[in-house]
Amino acid sequence: MIRSSRGRWGWGIEQARDQQILPDRGILADRWALGFLSWVMGCELGVEMEYWTPARALVVAAHPDDIEFGCAGTVARWVQEGAHVTYALVTNGAAGSSDPEMTRERLAELREAEARAAGKVVGVDHVEFLGYEDGLLEPTLEVREKIVRLIRRVRPEVVVTTDPTTRYFADRYINHPDHRAAGEATLAAVIPGSDTRLAYPELLEEGLEPVKLVGVWLMMNMEPNLVVDIGEFIDKKIESLACHVTQIGDDLGEEGGFVRGMAEFSAADQPFQYGEAFRVFRYDLPWEPPRSDPEAPLSEA
Ligand SMILES: [Zn+2]
Repeated sequence: MIRSSRGRWGWGIEQARDQQILPDRGILADRWALGFLSWVMGCELGVEMEYWTPARALVVAAHPDDIEFGCAGTVARWVQEGAHVTYALVTNGAAGSSDPEMTRERLAELREAEARAAGKVVGVDHVEFLGYEDGLLEPTLEVREKIVRLIRRVRPEVVVTTDPTTRYFADRYINHPDHRAAGEATLAAVIPGSDTRLAYPELLEEGLEPVKLVGVWLMMNMEPNLVVDIGEFIDKKIESLACHVTQIGDDLGEEGGFVRGMAEFSAADQPFQYGEAFRVFRYDLPWEPPRSDPEAPLSEA
């Protein structure tokens, strides 16, 4: 099914000109500019992506429990469907406690063990720890290079990370700056780091050739174009999140009620009960130029 929300995203030339995004120029220049503008701004945002199972995926997140909150159900499904998945945690999670008895060193150790256990629950045995300090992450060139190296080493078909543009979640949560920084560094690692041969000559010397990704999936995103049905995997998601004992405690509620509630919210307009929502970019599909008539019906898939 293809669904559209073009009322919001499908600008016509006149609307773009009203917004002073397009200058008052000839129609051909306008059409080219609108095409480019639409491409850049994601005119196709309202179109739902098709779910697919990558052969290999790399999930990059800031903290040891981010992956479980964001995509553990999808990872569990991918693994069952034959995917190989690697996790990479950019920070050590050492700031995630207000217990006066806890130290940063001790917490970092505990959280590494929790992350490994959480991965095992969904069939992920390989967890990379980049070791940056929790709470202080910046999307520096150094962080980017480490993620490029990882992408070229793991050679995934899909990279999953947190959406760096998410500043707030409704009126409930100001997004953690580490989540934004991890997403920012990862997207910069994807393009131009992972696929441009001369971007990192030193990696070529190590035998780490460029990788052409099929897609990028963003979690912690406010404008998803794909909701994955995780109905069969909601128990695995709860079980993997529960591995983060230092973070979750008893907060999951009776039988993971909190997680179920989040997953039901994500699937609210879907024909299934539990979902995880993503904004997905896919690079191997034919690209169609956006149309200037936002009222025109979309083709059925
Ligand atoms: Zn986090």
